[in-house]
Amino acid sequence: MPKNIKQRTIKKQVSASGIGLHSSNIVELTLKPASVDTGIVFKRTDIENSELIKAKPESVTDTRLSTQIGTNPAQRIGTVEHLMSALYGCGIDNVIVELSGPEIPIFDGSSASFMLLIDNAGIKEQDADKKFIKIMDHVRVEDDGKFAEFTPNDIFSLDLEIDFNHPIIPKQAKRFDITSNFYKKEIARARTFCFQKDVEYMQSIGLALGGGLDNAIVIGDFAVLNKDGLRYKDEFIRHKILDCIGDLYMVGYPILGHFNAELTGHGLNNKLLREIFSDDNNWKFITLPEDSSSIPFI
Ligand SMILES: [Zn+2]
Repeated sequence: MPKNIKQRTIKKQVSASGIGLHSSNIVELTLKPASVDTGIVFKRTDIENSELIKAKPESVTDTRLSTQIGTNPAQRIGTVEHLMSALYGCGIDNVIVELSGPEIPIFDGSSASFMLLIDNAGIKEQDADKKFIKIMDHVRVEDDGKFAEFTPNDIFSLDLEIDFNHPIIPKQAKRFDITSNFYKKEIARARTFCFQKDVEYMQSIGLALGGGLDNAIVIGDFAVLNKDGLRYKDEFIRHKILDCIGDLYMVGYPILGHFNAELTGHGLNNKLLREIFSDDNNWKFITLPEDSSSIPFI
């Protein structure tokens, strides 16, 4: 009998400090190893007896600017999507995420810093089979001309289209098959992006206070304003893929299926997850043998 892919945690505790994109507070992020079947669990360390927030679709409570989790407004944690995306990319099932403030640090605006942090901690295989969620039926949600859907597929693949109606961001559509190592090479370094005019407005109302050329691609009327330009020619759509992967990993398990979306965002992605779990015929848990060609992480 071939061995199945095992659950993973990190080998040792690691920490890093950074600025929050919207709050501009310096926050310390700590990742701690966790036992089998713990899942991904968040905790605020600046609040006494704070609640534990598990990565699951119902934990998402605000998706307007970033993905925010936690039902108690005083204990919420914002901008979790890039960390969730990196945990997915490293195949981490079980970890405790501790945070000394209300927002995960933005670092360079991609998930590469989180990947590095996990790399420093080391990845540890655990003594239990890893569970995957296999999509068994077509599930679709729509909102105001936007849609997101899953159809059954043996691997995790994504078809995404973006259209910002802006000369610097051409309308882009792309299909990605997420198989071993693809995430680290092709997705992890893609940074978040924003328009210069929006940054000025957001900062005037007290948002994106920590934002700037160090942690986002800033797009002017006629050019990208970052001195070194783009990291990938199609960095914008790659970052959207990074965000979608992070949003979908809020399930707490890697999904095997084909994700197709036009103009989707954090809110619609979360609505899709809730729709999947509204009917047990839409999905089932499976395990995969170690030599499977459809392993979607490093
Ligand atoms: Zn993002």
